[in-house]
Amino acid sequence: MGHTSRREFLRQGSLGTAGFLFASGLLNSSFAGTLSPRVPAALGGSPLWADSHWIKWPMWVQAEDEKVLMDSVRSGVWSRAKLVDEFESKWAEAIGTKRCLTVVNGTNALITAINQLDIGAGDEVITTPYTFIASVQAILANNAMPVFADIDPATYQIDPAKLESKITKRTKAILVVHILGLPADMDRIMSIAQKHNLAVIEDACQAHLAEYDGKKVGSIGKAGCFSFQNSKNLPIGEGGAIVSNDERFIDNCFAAHNLGYAYGTSTGAVAGDSFMRASKIRLTEYQAAIGLAQLKRVEEQTNTRHENAAYLSSMLKDIDGVRPIKLYDKVTRGAYHLYSFRYHPESFKGLSRQKFLEALRKEGLPCSGGYKVMHTQEFMRNTFASRVYKSFYSKKMLDFEDYKQRNSCPENEALCKDAVWLTQNVLLGSRKDMEGIADAVRNISRNADKI
Ligand SMILES: *Cc1c(COP(=O)(O)O)cnc(C)c1O
Repeated sequence: MGHTSRREFLRQGSLGTAGFLFASGLLNSSFAGTLSPRVPAALGGSPLWADSHWIKWPMWVQAEDEKVLMDSVRSGVWSRAKLVDEFESKWAEAIGTKRCLTVVNGTNALITAINQLDIGAGDEVITTPYTFIASVQAILANNAMPVFADIDPATYQIDPAKLESKITKRTKAILVVHILGLPADMDRIMSIAQKHNLAVIEDACQAHLAEYDGKKVGSIGKAGCFSFQNSKNLPIGEGGAIVSNDERFIDNCFAAHNLGYAYGTSTGAVAGDSFMRASKIRLTEYQAAIGLAQLKRVEEQTNTRHENAAYLSSMLKDIDGVRPIKLYDKVTRGAYHLYSFRYHPESFKGLSRQKFLEALRKEGLPCSGGYKVMHTQEFMRNTFASRVYKSFYSKKMLDFEDYKQRNSCPENEALCKDAVWLTQNVLLGSRKDMEGIADAVRNISRNADKI
């Protein structure tokens, strides 16, 4: 069935022409909308795409990727050595920083960066509520207090206008998250940080090779943190990195990732002199081999996602009830770990987001509603009840109801209710696929009362 539906979709040749005219601004959406008198899959029509249509993630190209990996496996050198070094120097070069240190995952990259900036018990870190739980867990792992500044509803990023009022005497850092792989408003954030003497840590775990004003994100603040988890735009399975231009800071992160042995100490050493309390969170050689294989593709894939996202947004913006995510003017490239738009059921005859998502999935389009409100969950309450928090924070600061009030973020709550996410592999599809997505949304809109 998959094949038939794909062929049928491709047969709708007029879509291609419409896309071309559309891109050249000759058509408006209402004309393009008449292209599809199709029965939506949600009402029994055949789906636009087979599940197997989209690029399988992670990608593995046997002929290109396997040699370095198998050489590394067969060599028996599995602990950190020259492949990890090579990956680190290539990633530093890709991001445009002096240095890079790999670690076991993005969460531990964040934990280590925060820790090596001497942020801990009694300190506050301002961050965004619209993020993956790891950003917040990394603050808590250092016994610091997360403080939330609400988001900009158009870009989904932390809103600099809401950030400054959150600064107190305890504030030590801003943890900026480039959520969905799209750069935050870095000029304004950096100038607030400078004014108040705060460190800026960039959570770029979704933002590989995204650019703000021509600079790669992760290279703008004091430290940039990346994730190479399976779903990410540079996947290793697990893996992470800290990048920085501050060599001393990265030297310290290196020691922190290797039992406190100074940077340069061979990772086989068992009897060296250690100078700090530390963990051991090293990447392996075979992980670096996988990373080196993936690294070759990221630049081109990032460009494809960026171009397809722009094209898709240009079509979706003309559909009533759909508002594609916006970029700040200074964003020169989005990494689009996810593509998102806001969905307003009122314009779809009251069709709920959940039903809308189901209808898209029935067309063969992988999608979800994204994050739920996270910072009011049990893990926060339980952390506040811990012995260490009780000894470093006042009763008032740990009053959870009070905390939720102080950190209430209405824009974030609204976004959690109406966001629609498409996964990044969808953006590696063709322009025709992007036209198909816009067509699917219009078709659901037209048939909304029946779905
Ligand atoms: C994935 C992710 C992390 C954590 O990375 P892991 O490698 O999964 O530990 C942190 N922050 C954000 C925004 C992420 O998306």
